[in-house]
Amino acid sequence: MSPDIKHILVKHLELESFFAGDFSIRGCPRPSASMVPSTESGKMSPTVSRQPTLIATETTVPSLSSFQTLEDIAAAVRQCRLCGLAQTRTHAVPGQGNPKARLVFVGEGPGEDEDKQGLAFVGKAGKKLTEIIAAMGLNRQEVFICNVVKCRPSGNRDPKPDEIAQCMPYLKRQLELIAPTVIVALGAHAARTLLETDAAIGKLRGRFFEYRFSLSHPPAKLMPTYHPSYLIRNYTIETRRRVWEDMKKVMQELGIGPAKP
Ligand code: URA
Repeated sequence: MSPDIKHILVKHLELESFFAGDFSIRGCPRPSASMVPSTESGKMSPTVSRQPTLIATETTVPSLSSFQTLEDIAAAVRQCRLCGLAQTRTHAVPGQGNPKARLVFVGEGPGEDEDKQGLAFVGKAGKKLTEIIAAMGLNRQEVFICNVVKCRPSGNRDPKPDEIAQCMPYLKRQLELIAPTVIVALGAHAARTLLETDAAIGKLRGRFFEYRFSLSHPPAKLMPTYHPSYLIRNYTIETRRRVWEDMKKVMQELGIGPAKP
């Protein structure tokens, strides 16, 4: 195929994707959840109900606007083979919790325990996160907990930019469907990815940013804070105080108080 015809085809499929939500091209930026009316809330897509389709070939990645429930997304994540992490995972980890959560925690990616169980934040860092959630007067079933990448980078290495890029549509669609009031980005990877910045977590944490799902929905407040693993490694009064200050702002935004002693 000549480069010109290929270019025209790619442009055509991009337009298709924008209006009908069925295709997108690997390597081409998909419309961001924050920039484009969603299927649910926007007026641009047809209202025909379709069975979600996962098309993962050499040239296509799934368009997620047809995924109407978190279960649809979880099923797609479990089948996903879009990046090399699929080859080394035991279980994909879509995330779990309340589909109508007002508060969502987003971590970096599954660790060993999460990979074994297919559940987010169930290891040591998960235990710390559970404590934080409990201190906020909540429990894990009331919130939603997930990660930027849904499969474990082996040896606990950082996820690579292309792995994050392939996986982000899942997280964006999850956030779009849940539409929480507050998102807590746990650690540098989650904060930088969601905010599309290179800034250090120490500079980002402690204040709210806006995270926009769609033009028709009010943005969520996004609070970056330290990752529970960082807190475990640096268990000082100062880091604990900082995380607690961040969570107090989150509680205030949600209109809830801390757990009673
Ligand atoms: N660390 C993360 O970022 N996510 C998990 O699910 C577990 C550990």
